[in-house]
Amino acid sequence: MLTRTDLRGRVPSPGELRATLPRAGTDVEHALHRVRPVIEAVRDRGVAAAREYTEQFDSVLPEQVRVPENELRRALDELDPSVRTALEESIARARRVHADQRRSDVTTEVAPGGTVTERWVPVSRVGLYAPGGLAVYPSSVVMNVVPAQAAGVGSLVVCSPPQAEFGGRPHPTILAAAQLLGVDEVWAVGGAQAVALLAYGGTDTDDGELLPVDMVTGPGNLYVTAAKRHLRSVIGIDSEAGPTEIAVLADTSADPVHVAADLISQAEHDTLAASVLVTTSEEFADAVDTELERQVAQTKHIERIRTALTGTQSGCVLVSTVDDGIRVVDAYAAEHLEIQTQQASEVAARVRNAGAIFVGAFSPVSLGDYCAGSNHVLPTGGCARHSSGLSVQSFLRGIHVVDYTEQALREVTDQVIALADAEDLPAHGQALTARFPV
Ligand code: NAD
Repeated sequence: MLTRTDLRGRVPSPGELRATLPRAGTDVEHALHRVRPVIEAVRDRGVAAAREYTEQFDSVLPEQVRVPENELRRALDELDPSVRTALEESIARARRVHADQRRSDVTTEVAPGGTVTERWVPVSRVGLYAPGGLAVYPSSVVMNVVPAQAAGVGSLVVCSPPQAEFGGRPHPTILAAAQLLGVDEVWAVGGAQAVALLAYGGTDTDDGELLPVDMVTGPGNLYVTAAKRHLRSVIGIDSEAGPTEIAVLADTSADPVHVAADLISQAEHDTLAASVLVTTSEEFADAVDTELERQVAQTKHIERIRTALTGTQSGCVLVSTVDDGIRVVDAYAAEHLEIQTQQASEVAARVRNAGAIFVGAFSPVSLGDYCAGSNHVLPTGGCARHSSGLSVQSFLRGIHVVDYTEQALREVTDQVIALADAEDLPAHGQALTARFPV
């Protein structure tokens, strides 16, 4: 089922590999032309334009775009108890992990009387996107809100697409998750129009005012990702967390039943989701293919999964050795990387590029999607080469606070003046000689 690329005997350079490995034909760049007019309309006409695009893309027109707080409370009251328990477990685990990520301020005494402090300050107001197109993602409410709260962000607003079957509100489990986490501002808007509304803000007679945010985080489809990329000078964004990807590096010690199930689990997100197997064994690849055929036939979202697995973004790469496999997965830089080889921990420790790494037979990506404690908002499309997943750090800015005494400044005056002169910026030097006239 998975298209094969045979790299046995020769693994190309990282640059060539990037061109060889499976990637989606439709990318964020393609979606930009579609979202640009949406963003401009929402910038100019606010909530009214967002409502029009909601009707066009989501086929529903919410009566109110802001969800009333009593509906958030009701959603939690009416939540299935087993889902509530699962959400509470997911939140508790994520809170434990994210609480440990918080960095402390660091003060360095550079010279006697001269200090630089790196002070970590949370972003003031953040918009958190929880997807709700092909599937709904209360888990993404958890993954966005927990690190933002751990960072100390003061003002949080959640946006998620309205659902026709729920009267134009986001899915009730999204509302319940927000309520459980203590977020009381939720707007029923999705896609690029949501990102634009968060960035520019907007007012409506029925809904009141959505104040513009400083930053938008969260996963989404190609349109959401394109809007984040387009607006990144207006707002801060996290990494580009677009259509999901799983790569599995496996040798013959792996179980093809598990590997196939994991590849399918991520293909379930989106027709553009990518499932890539990198393996040292052709027989193992055959066994995974057989399992894919068998298991896909038994899944609920069979067409979506089949489309994802047979798209250009999915495939199987054959390599001679696990070492070569590491070179391949490093060049691919998957959002999720599973290591299902012998000595999986040692192999995982050698990987440089991945959004998150899942080690061994009992750490599947589905665990990370919900309840590992790790964050599931992760970079896609090769962005894991330079970006991290969402974390407490995403919501903090490190401000350098410089504090020198007169004597400490005097001692470094000659060096500052020499460097200012070398750059032909003498007024810089004069800012010091004004303090210490000769
Ligand atoms: P979504 O909320 O991201 O997108 C739905 C919105 O897309 C709709 O509200 C609609 O306004 C807009 N839209 C739909 N068709 C459009 C069109 N033709 N033109 C313009 N806008 C359009 O929900 P989704 O579609 O289910 O996608 C969720 C995505 O999030 C999946 O791709 C999934 O893989 C991804 N995801 C990624 C991560 C990550 O960390 N990388 C985590 C979870 C989910």
